Amino acid sequence: MTDSLGIDPALLERATARFAERFGDAPPTVAVAPGRVNLIGEHTDYNDGFVLPMAIGRAAVVVFRPRNDRTLRLHAVAFDETKELALDALTAPGGDEWYSYVAGVAWAFASEGLVAPGLDAVVDGDVPLGAGLSSSAALEMATARALAAAGDLEWDPVRMALLGQKAENQYVGMNCGIMDQFASAVSRAGHALLLDCRSLETRPVPVPDDAEVVVMDTGARRSLAGSAYNDRRAACERVVARLQKGNPSVKALRDVTLELLEREQERLDPVDLKRARHVVPENTRPVQMADALQASNLEEAGELMNDSHFSLRDLYEVSCEELDLITEIAREQPSCFGARMTGAGFGGCAVALVKADATDSFCDTVLTAYKAKIDLPAALYPCRPMPGARLLV
Ligand code: ADP
Ligand code: MG
Repeated sequence: MTDSLGIDPALLERATARFAERFGDAPPTVAVAPGRVNLIGEHTDYNDGFVLPMAIGRAAVVVFRPRNDRTLRLHAVAFDETKELALDALTAPGGDEWYSYVAGVAWAFASEGLVAPGLDAVVDGDVPLGAGLSSSAALEMATARALAAAGDLEWDPVRMALLGQKAENQYVGMNCGIMDQFASAVSRAGHALLLDCRSLETRPVPVPDDAEVVVMDTGARRSLAGSAYNDRRAACERVVARLQKGNPSVKALRDVTLELLEREQERLDPVDLKRARHVVPENTRPVQMADALQASNLEEAGELMNDSHFSLRDLYEVSCEELDLITEIAREQPSCFGARMTGAGFGGCAVALVKADATDSFCDTVLTAYKAKIDLPAALYPCRPMPGARLLV
């Protein structure tokens, strides 16, 4: 069960109880920020392209009280661990422990002259860690919301998203794009968020009430993802470098049309060409899907998701057996408009667009059929579009 703000009340209870236990009874404030699922536009962010994420009901929670000194006293429920850090001693890079995500945001604030006090804080959440639903950005944005409130600073979601990315890039040392923090900070209730990763322009896109977005966690976690990700990025960069000669306006794959790609194919490595043949059309799909959702054309939205999956599977080659299977089973259900892998690939989650009134039976059937073939801790989460980072009052 979730309350009207989409946060599981049991999560809030657990986090505030832990706060009282660790830091005493004086009432704390609660900052929350959602995880996200990317509906379409995969491997387009680092090509300066479009993405269409949606903030989900699973969130990071930072229960906090400002301190009178410059100490961060942090406790993570997930690791049952407490860590104390001096705000004035933070330097990048600062490691990739759970508390690095919190400290990194504090460091990013300070790097831009934003002064926030120390905190006593409990960190908790129900975004599965490392499943591709961006628990890291959720934690960063909940932290930013807490620090901004404690320091009496203006809450500017776009600026905060950029600070979160800076924290993750420079302090934690993860070379992530801007999508996750934007989705977690800027999203509006009831809407997905069309984001242009080059201009950072956004457009809230209403998700029709008769559609349900279902996240399908395959239960598979692959270490391969990191090296394949770097390899795909390098392929995209090589194509751009080649095409720039003779086409000086090409700064990223975002600027390449299919016609240009086909015309210049002789100059490209065949595998690199295949990768680009995914990215170029994929980059048109977020705007098309945004328009389809806006027009309540769920059939078209679903088709685009299927196309995206096949392209990621056959051209970008970042799918895997588990992602292919769970999306195939999903597509076989009459209540399903379309399904695709989401996130970097090689495991993690897929996403389906489903008739809202059939969600429960869809989830039961897909989970049973998947588990009959693959023995992994899979889980399905129906998701409504949630608002970005906020304080609970
Ligand atoms: P993803 O963002 O896909 O979930 P990442 O590897 O980017 O995966 O981030 C996961 C890391 O973020 C965790 O290993 C942990 O360090 C940190 N983290 C995220 N949420 C929490 C949380 N609720 N409590 C403690 N640490 C968290
Ligand atoms: Mg992450």
